[in-house]
Amino acid sequence: MSEDGTPTATATDDRADDPGQAGLAGLHAVVTGGATGIGAAVAGRLARAGAAVTLMARNAERLAEAAEALPAAAGEVCDVTDEGGVRRAFDHAVRRFGPVAILVNNAGIAPTGPLAKTSLADWQRVLDVNLTGAFLCSRAVIPAMVEAGWGRIVTIASTAGLKAYPYASAYVASKHGAVGLTRAMALELASTGVTANAVCPGYADTDIVAASVRTIVEKTGREADEALAALVKANPQKRLIDPQEVAATVMWLCSSDARSVTGQALAVAGGEVM
Ligand code: NDP
Repeated sequence: MSEDGTPTATATDDRADDPGQAGLAGLHAVVTGGATGIGAAVAGRLARAGAAVTLMARNAERLAEAAEALPAAAGEVCDVTDEGGVRRAFDHAVRRFGPVAILVNNAGIAPTGPLAKTSLADWQRVLDVNLTGAFLCSRAVIPAMVEAGWGRIVTIASTAGLKAYPYASAYVASKHGAVGLTRAMALELASTGVTANAVCPGYADTDIVAASVRTIVEKTGREADEALAALVKANPQKRLIDPQEVAATVMWLCSSDARSVTGQALAVAGGEVM
C-alpha cells in the first residue's frame, strides 16, 4: 500500500504487498443495502477489520443508526436504480473516505408471485434493483480500482442465481443476471488486480424471508410456522443461513488469500445447490 493508504498492489505483486493481506485498514468499502440483514452483517465485519465503510440504501434513518454503531462508517442515501443518484452517492463517499477498494452489491428485493400475474412494472423493478443496481454501482468503482491495481467486487446474488424457484421468475432472472454480470466483469478485469465474485446464499434469516413467509400465509392460508418450514426444507441442512455466514464468505473473498478466486458464484446454502 502506498503512504497515502491507496492500494498499490497488482495481480503480480508479492502477497505481502496485497492490501487484503494486512487486514482492511485504510481501505474504503461500500456496501449497498448495508443497514439491514446480510448487508449489515457484511458491513459490521468489514468495519471491524479496519475498513472505512459507506452504507448505501434509501432509508436515511436506518442508515444513520447502522453507521453510528460501526467504528468508521457513514450512510449515503442512494437508490441503486437511479443513475444520477448512484453517481452522486459515490462522489460523496469518495470525498469522505477516498477511492473505493471494496464494493459489495447487496441491495435487493424479492417479491414473489406467479409469472402470469407479474406486471411489467414489477418485473422491471426487480431487474432494476437486483441487476441494474449492481451494474451501476460496479461501473462507478471500476476505474479507480483498476487505477489502484487492486479491488474487490462481491455481489450478493442467491441460490436463485444458480437454480430456479417457482413463483419468483423476476427474482430468478435478476439473480441469474447478477451471476452473469459477475462472470463478465471477472474476465474483463482479470489482468488488473480486481476480482469480481458472487455469493449465493440459500434462504437466510432476514426481513426478506420474513416477508416471503407473510406472503405465503396470505396467499395460502397456511400457518407461519408451516410456511417457514417449507422454505427451510429447501436447505439439506434444514435451517436458515445466518447472515454472518454470508459475511464471513465475503470477508474471505476480500482477502489476499482469495486473489485467484474470480468469476465464481459461491453457494452458501447447506448443499442446496452443488
Ligand atoms: P433486507 O431486506 O434486509 O436487505 C435488502 C436491502 O436492500 C435493504 O437494506 C434495503 O434498504 C436495500 N435496498 C432495497 N432496494 C434498494 C434500492 N433501490 N436502492 C438501494 N438499496 C435498496 O434483506 P437481505 O439482507 O436478505 O437481502 C440482502 C441481499 O441478499 C439481497 O440482494 C437478497 O436478494 C440477497 N439474498 C437474500 C436471501 C435471503 O434469504 N434473505 C437469500 C439469497 C440472497 P432500503 O429499503 O433502505 O433501501
